[in-house]
Amino acid sequence: MLKIDTHTHIIPKKLPNWSDKFGYGDFIYLQHHKKGFAKMMRGNQFFREINENAWNPKLRIDEYAKFNTQVQVVCTIPVMFSYWAKPLDCLDLSQFLNDDLAELIEKHPKHYLGLATLPMQDTELAIQELERCKKIGLQGIQIGSNINDLNLNEERFYPIFEACEKLGMAIMVHPWNMMGQKYMQRYWLPWLVGMPAETTRAICSMIFSGIFDKLPKLRVMFSHAGGSFLATLGRIEHGFNCRPDLVAIDNPVNPRNYLGKFWVDSITHDPIMLEYVLKMVGSDKVVLGSDYPFPLGDLEIGRFIEDMNLDASVKEDIFYKAPLEWLGVDKNRFE
Ligand SMILES: [Zn+2]
Repeated sequence: MLKIDTHTHIIPKKLPNWSDKFGYGDFIYLQHHKKGFAKMMRGNQFFREINENAWNPKLRIDEYAKFNTQVQVVCTIPVMFSYWAKPLDCLDLSQFLNDDLAELIEKHPKHYLGLATLPMQDTELAIQELERCKKIGLQGIQIGSNINDLNLNEERFYPIFEACEKLGMAIMVHPWNMMGQKYMQRYWLPWLVGMPAETTRAICSMIFSGIFDKLPKLRVMFSHAGGSFLATLGRIEHGFNCRPDLVAIDNPVNPRNYLGKFWVDSITHDPIMLEYVLKMVGSDKVVLGSDYPFPLGDLEIGRFIEDMNLDASVKEDIFYKAPLEWLGVDKNRFE
């Protein structure tokens, strides 16, 4: 069966030293300190060690072959977003990353699809780069769950979403810049607690602003099975009903009505949770995802889904039908 992993990260092997180039800021750069490994550095601060499968396309194809997965949808690592930078500098950086994706996809069209990154802090530049990314063959964009602490309902982002709908570019919302992380460094809490909350923040901001009604053809996928949104929807709906004066101020529609209007990936690490997610949004809205190549990802690329007692049609939905629909890609491309 065709399998498309919709949530994977990649980075070019060589990055410019943007801090030197622009003369400010702690932009990420790579130190290739030993063969097959690199340190991601933020200024002088060590951020994370990555290995060759974060940049080597052929090695990645081989690793995916072990899990019978042909296609990877690649996007940058959220720490690269650099929304905090001066807009033109972020545009320059985004173009470098997006060109790298486009080149990769041109070389390996049956194995890779790409999601661009945009200078979201500047609406005009973001749309300009979005249009360019459409032309160079990328399928959509990856954006953060907040943009420099602004929520996705802010009016300044609306024209970007509108342009995505018009151009048929898919959107993946990825948690980053986690709320409260300063106060919960111990126990990896920004990743374990902050990330699911971030994704919920993004979904609620978009639903309550009414964006899915204003832009009904917008195709949005939320990472990590929607974070904690689906598990807490009962509470969210109850809040909507009991305090409409706080919740329903921009959109009178019950949040539950939006189930089935956006996609989520399968990264639950838990078959019982995935069953619940499938029940909530429908199998046509659940896409295979892994977060490869990072340790918190599902690095067996959906093997636990293979092992679940699901109808063949449900597995087909998750592994390729829902991904193709979300990305607006034809199956023939991979044959
Ligand atoms: Zn990810």
